[in-house]
Amino acid sequence: MIDLINKAKTEHSLNKDELIELLSCQDGEQIFKAADEVRQKYVGAEVHLRALIEFSNICRCNCAYCGLRCKNRDIERYRMSAEQIVETALKAADFGYKTIVLQSGEDVFFTADYLAEIIREIKKNDVAVTLSIGERSFEEYKILKDAGADRFLLRIETTDRKLYEKYHPGADFENRIRCLEDLKQLGFETGTGCLVGLPGQTIESLADDILFFKELDADMVGIGPLIVHPHTPLNGQQNGSLDLALRVMALTRLLMPDINIPATTAMETLNPAGRILALQSGANVVMPNLTDDDARAKYEIYPNKAGVNYTELSEKLRSIGRTISHKKGYRGNTDCPLTLNPSPAGRGKHTNTARYLRKNMTPQELKFWNLVRNSQFENTKFKRQYPIGKYIVDFVAIQKMLVIELDGGGHNTPEQQKYDEERTKYLKSRGFKILRFWNNDIDNNIDGVFETISIALRERD
Ligand code: SAM
Ligand code: SF4
Repeated sequence: MIDLINKAKTEHSLNKDELIELLSCQDGEQIFKAADEVRQKYVGAEVHLRALIEFSNICRCNCAYCGLRCKNRDIERYRMSAEQIVETALKAADFGYKTIVLQSGEDVFFTADYLAEIIREIKKNDVAVTLSIGERSFEEYKILKDAGADRFLLRIETTDRKLYEKYHPGADFENRIRCLEDLKQLGFETGTGCLVGLPGQTIESLADDILFFKELDADMVGIGPLIVHPHTPLNGQQNGSLDLALRVMALTRLLMPDINIPATTAMETLNPAGRILALQSGANVVMPNLTDDDARAKYEIYPNKAGVNYTELSEKLRSIGRTISHKKGYRGNTDCPLTLNPSPAGRGKHTNTARYLRKNMTPQELKFWNLVRNSQFENTKFKRQYPIGKYIVDFVAIQKMLVIELDGGGHNTPEQQKYDEERTKYLKSRGFKILRFWNNDIDNNIDGVFETISIALRERD
């Protein structure tokens, strides 16, 4: 077990069997300690506070575990006005919060255009805006992104498709994935996560969840133990286990060292020390609730939701050697080795350029892509036109930190050579190996190209 933890700590990679072993071992303490050390090394001692505004508890969905589900008649519904939302956000900004999280049920009253107006108003202050409003179309997400929204939280909840379908009647698992991919593509800092303790959920599927977060390259991952709500079909079932939720979270930190991970309210609700335990096991974010008392009481996804007392929190943080951040806390603001993208602003621009490039591939790039897509070459996942820092690389196998560049004649000019040298230096400083091939090689010697890549992949194992 210690060997596995050390591997995760240094290589930030575990396979499914290894994850299962660590999720089911006797004592999680060593995992928590390792995740705490990785958190300190990659994202530091700062804790980012995100001000949460729960602006509507009206929801068109019927998730079997959630008190806001449309079929729960035993709940008083509310919807804040745009003015109330903006006013609460401005209060939070005045108080010093650098991120405002707007969360709601899937309430279609709030069209993308209407939400865009609210976002624009809030963004007049120096804050980041995170949305957590559920599934929408690509076009709607784009309107929200164009209005200035920075981040989006959409948990996959579980990657076990059968379980997903069981607990989300009428919902489409594929659409959930599509939403997450759209959000990434649009340049949102994208958050996902899962519920731990759904009846029928297995350790195997939790291991898949962690691998899914990594595969998506999520920027934030929120893990919550299930808390049973009596007015849902899960009434009478057991709550999720805090220890298991902490393990899923800690292993996520080990595999994704530079992301943002919240100490979730559900953890604190299950155990009054849950938040601090989470912050000592890999978490670096807390989301204090700024919704007014009346609305907050009605936003009952589960009973007895824990709150955050600011003074108490800052004292507790000090006692464990942590500080409150006064930055917006984007992924990658720290100068850590695995940070691929410097900021969401840069990332957004890059992502648009990357998207354009993806649509306008050269014949050689297309030929290469068709041979590596869907992990068909040596079971390795390649991404194309992928932003790394201020550069966009042609192809990358992130797990192996291997970049592949295809060069045409344009790369012969002295200016281009100088640019390529700088770019190579930067990528190497980030730990990537770079292989360059001429278009001619792709046209006439594709076997040789793949042999070279195969050797490099083995070297990176
Ligand atoms: N409607 C949006 C969505 O589903 O993405 C955002 C709001 S929803 C209330 C936020 C999260 O609450 C969900 O992702 C879900 O994991 C969590 N949640 C709902 N019911 C819960 C429960 N009974 N126990 C723990 N977490 C729960
Ligand atoms: Fe609605 Fe979100 Fe609750 Fe599902 S989890 S019922 S989408 S508020």
